[in-house]
Amino acid sequence: MIKFDVIVVGAGPAGSSAARFCAKGNLKTLLLEKEKMPREKRCAGGVSKAALDELDFALPEELVERRCWGMSLSLGKLRNEATNDSPVAVMVTRNKFDSFLAEKAREAGAEVRDGEEYLSATAEKDGVIVKTARETYACRIVIGADGIHSRVAKLVRAPFKQKEIRFCLIAEIPMQKERISELLHDRVVIWYGFIDMGYAWLFPKGDYISAGIGGTFEQARNLKEKFGEFLTRNNLPADVKMKGCLIPLSEFGYNVYSERAMITGDAAGFADAFSGEGIRFAIASGRMAAESALECRKKNDFSKNILKSYEERARKEFIGDLKCSARMTNLSFSHPRLILATAIGNKDVLKKYFGTMTGEISFREYSDWFKLRLPYFLLKRIFSRRKN
Ligand SMILES: Cc1cc2nc3c(=O)[nH]c(=O)nc-3n(C[C@H](O)[C@H](O)[C@H](O)COP(=O)(O)OP(=O)(O)OC[C@H]3O[C@@H](n4cnc5c(N)ncnc54)[C@H](O)[C@@H]3O)c2cc1C
Repeated sequence: MIKFDVIVVGAGPAGSSAARFCAKGNLKTLLLEKEKMPREKRCAGGVSKAALDELDFALPEELVERRCWGMSLSLGKLRNEATNDSPVAVMVTRNKFDSFLAEKAREAGAEVRDGEEYLSATAEKDGVIVKTARETYACRIVIGADGIHSRVAKLVRAPFKQKEIRFCLIAEIPMQKERISELLHDRVVIWYGFIDMGYAWLFPKGDYISAGIGGTFEQARNLKEKFGEFLTRNNLPADVKMKGCLIPLSEFGYNVYSERAMITGDAAGFADAFSGEGIRFAIASGRMAAESALECRKKNDFSKNILKSYEERARKEFIGDLKCSARMTNLSFSHPRLILATAIGNKDVLKKYFGTMTGEISFREYSDWFKLRLPYFLLKRIFSRRKN
């Protein structure tokens, strides 16, 4: 039987990050991916400045489709836009981006086996037996980075509840680069109000626009019509190929480790409820899981006594923030006229939000800043409406 120190399942941003950091620390690492790379990944492909800073290397220019400097936000007839002093995100195409990250894991010394599906793992006294569609392996720790439908997560947590998942439709609309610049001005476009607990978006890429809409499962029935309406209102063709996909927006009522297993990225539910951003937390959690695996080797203890340090790191660095974002999101979407409209109507609020994308401030700091000023912003809005 082939033996590894660590087997990482899934070569998305979480898995490639975990495998890279494990291999860099001289752990014998296998990265398993069920698809042949490059594989399709349904995603808007916005990589925030904070996510880029999680990488320990620069992203090659050929992977950057476009730099985004700001946002344009709408709610009903209300529209506002803001631009940052520096780019807040880069736009990528996920199949290329993810392949590159997997290559970085390989470069660091991880063995990457794509087209090989993980089937199961059994924890034994001295390690874990991992079965794939092709082989049986032995390892000391398994890291689950196998996305929202994670099989590894079965070793760790109960399945997500339906209310912890958002359903999205996405489409790619081919267009000339210059025309995209004219239409979107290197900004992401977000429309609230089309659906109750979500939004519709347009992200500018090199030669196509990545469009999408996402909300709760209850709204999935009408989503196709709503998406078509959104595209038409933006003078875009509505007869596009729409594809469905899911984002986990967890409430974190569970652990993200168990005996000899850790789960990362979407498998752990690490996505921001307000924006849907997940790449940043996937890369960060992959790195943190690797740090705990290295700690295990150092202490020669691969049990959950050490693996719990992974969850402690994640809670300290971003889970608190994700929970805060989920609370703010519920509040904002429950009172769109009060909270969303006040935020959208005020450039300072939009500009402050850029700090969460660049990593200058945490979401909790942003939310505290906003809540403190909400009464003032609200009064300002009411009086300016009266004047007009
Ligand atoms: C519509 C949409 C738009 C989004 N837009 C953005 C955005 O603009 N910016 C952003 O930051 N985030 C965005 N996200 C979220 C982001 O896509 C995810 O949070 C991120 O991809 C999570 O990375 P991951 O590595 O955990 O999982 P994934 O990227 O899903 O990777 C999981 C990998 O595991 C593999 N796998 C699954 N099962 C097995 C198995 N049994 N054996 C082996 N391999 C397996 C899969 O093939 C896949 O390659 C979006 C999500 C959606 C749905």
